[in-house]
Amino acid sequence: ANMIPSGVRFESTASEFQTPEAPVEKHEYQAEVSRLMDLIVNSLYSNKEVFLRELISNASDALDKLRFLSVTEPHLMEGASELDIRIQIDQENGVITLTDSGIGMTHQELVDSLGTIAHSGTAKFLKALKDSKEAGSDSNLIGQFGVGFYSAFLVAEKVVVSTKSPKSDKQYVWEGEANSSSYIIREETDPEKFIPRGTSIKLHLKRDDKAFAHPERIERLVKNYSQFVSFPIYTWQEKG
Ligand code: ADP
Ligand code: MG
Repeated sequence: ANMIPSGVRFESTASEFQTPEAPVEKHEYQAEVSRLMDLIVNSLYSNKEVFLRELISNASDALDKLRFLSVTEPHLMEGASELDIRIQIDQENGVITLTDSGIGMTHQELVDSLGTIAHSGTAKFLKALKDSKEAGSDSNLIGQFGVGFYSAFLVAEKVVVSTKSPKSDKQYVWEGEANSSSYIIREETDPEKFIPRGTSIKLHLKRDDKAFAHPERIERLVKNYSQFVSFPIYTWQEKG
């Protein structure tokens, strides 16, 4: 199938379009992930702002991992010695991009981490969900357990992850949309999007959640939720 991303904006430059030499792989989510995504996308959970805490916590974990591994493998730091988290806000288009210079993900790690239930928090969530007989309690469980990466879909209709592991020569793009049972992976071929190492997560906000793409709002959330993160967090606004 022709997988040109939907929602292509007309002001886009040609470089945003896929080049033919980057084949697109379509992957189905593990059934449990699909279920989880359905719940997240359709839930009435009102505390949507937790997405930022989850994504910052993942960025911080990725930086911690890198820092730890680099003690014995100093070459992992090559190309980017700054360990930080950057949040870019495009208010006009309702897009937030979180970039860390952490350990990144290889192709296999992308499939394993962002397509399956890889971690305990989400597994616990699903177990609790199964156990809960009370209808309508789903939304409370989201807050109780945290749903990790997938919480991006509380506010985003489309999520684009671009990631570069020092273990791989290639940078990969993962792209998923709310209300879809599949995601795609392709190689990053746009030099403008190359990063030396780490992960960038672009959230195309839902129409009703575009207000999150506001510098003051993001700065407030960063202060509230992520004051104990041990890496600098920079936020700035992208000019339209
Ligand atoms: P958890 O953080 O509890 O493991 P998440 O759903 O938040 O679960 O993330 C799933 C996995 O995706 C992480 O364990 C990690 O392997 C990978 N991941 C997510 N975000 C990043 C990131 N910014 N850099 C590197 N790996 C990441
Ligand atoms: Mg996490």
